[in-house]
Amino acid sequence: MITTPACIPMTGLLAANSLRRLLDLLAQDGDTAYIVGGAVRNALVGRPVHEIDIATSATPSLVMARAESAGFKTIPTGIDHGTVTVMVDHTPYEVTTFRSDIATDGRRATVLFGRDILPDAERRDFTINSLYADQDGVIIDLVGGLADIAARRVRFIGDPIARIREDYLRILRFFRFQSDYAEGAPDAAALAASKSEKNGLDTLSRERIRAEFLKILCSRRAVETVALMAETGILPHVIDQSPDINTLRHLVAFHPASDAILRLASLAVRSVHECESLRDKLRLSNHEFATLKAIATALPALPDTPESTPPQQLRALSYRHGHSHALDALRIKLAMHGTTVPDSVHTLIESAPDSCPFTGAMLLATGLAPGQHIGKIITAAETEWIAQDFPSEPPTRDTILANAVKQHA
Ligand code: ATP
Ligand code: MG
Repeated sequence: MITTPACIPMTGLLAANSLRRLLDLLAQDGDTAYIVGGAVRNALVGRPVHEIDIATSATPSLVMARAESAGFKTIPTGIDHGTVTVMVDHTPYEVTTFRSDIATDGRRATVLFGRDILPDAERRDFTINSLYADQDGVIIDLVGGLADIAARRVRFIGDPIARIREDYLRILRFFRFQSDYAEGAPDAAALAASKSEKNGLDTLSRERIRAEFLKILCSRRAVETVALMAETGILPHVIDQSPDINTLRHLVAFHPASDAILRLASLAVRSVHECESLRDKLRLSNHEFATLKAIATALPALPDTPESTPPQQLRALSYRHGHSHALDALRIKLAMHGTTVPDSVHTLIESAPDSCPFTGAMLLATGLAPGQHIGKIITAAETEWIAQDFPSEPPTRDTILANAVKQHA
């Protein structure tokens, strides 16, 4: 009987001429080269392919030599593990030599390069991530990935406990891929192993945990997945706060395009102290930390019922905390009550000015001498300007400033 081989559609990034050229270039002198991992998986389930990983029997030095001889720039991104990034027509391809992991310590592996595809397929994490495709899109499946794609099942390759002990990050990867690709209940063996091995997460670098967790927060079934992580006792190895799953649920329902930091804030930020702990636990950037802190600072000041709050008060809060932080904090505050920001309140928040109209230069121009009183006058004028609901035109604004000068000069 002749069976048609399974294929992926070679469209989008997979149709690029640069990909074909690179695969041809690598597959010389008896070497082989295949598209692998996320690109094949996504093409099979009809999701966009954002990046292409290539696996080859050619050694890293051969990959570099062949690429450079064709005039392609190479970057030894992870050369110890056999990964070289090759730039072809401005497109980066991550090319990794077939390898097996000969020693692991739960965090990183000592690798052995090889010419066989099977050990390379078996060292990958999940069956759906271990599918290879040749340049025509014909699939090589050595671990049962196609059946699992069809059944929308995320399964470890081999014994889940053993595979997790090689690299504890696989616990979080399991939750992420389960969230993004699976339908139905999680694989029982994988879930039990993730639960029993969870302490191993404490041995990982916080940067690796951060990257996976922020992706989980934006994954397809983020809420359900974070809830499952909490239920199984895995979440406390990621963040210290007791999670507010319901607020996350409402925020995601009302704001499906919300980013990871706003989702994190809804889940775990109620005070500035919590922002500090999250910054340390998840190695947040200064900008991410500043956003969380601004939200935490605005939260207690904001009303639970903004529709029945005087517009002037809302505008003042918006000015004090900044439009976007005030709006984000309000989204979280209302998500705590299962609602969202009405359009009218949204418009109002955005209608507040975003900067103070009074400057030191203005005062100096009136003949005042420089000194500390300048700052005091500006603060007094600003306070009055807010209290009068931001009059934008002279003469009111000028009068406010003149009064402040009278009081403090
Ligand atoms: P995406 O890029 O969409 O998150 P991906 O499958 O491409 O998904 P990567 O993290 O880019 O994921 O990894 C590429 C491939 O390398 C994976 O598909 C998998 O085969 C393998 N891989 C990555 N991380 C691990 C790991 N910790 N353990 C085992 N295999 C891994
Ligand atoms: Mg990838």
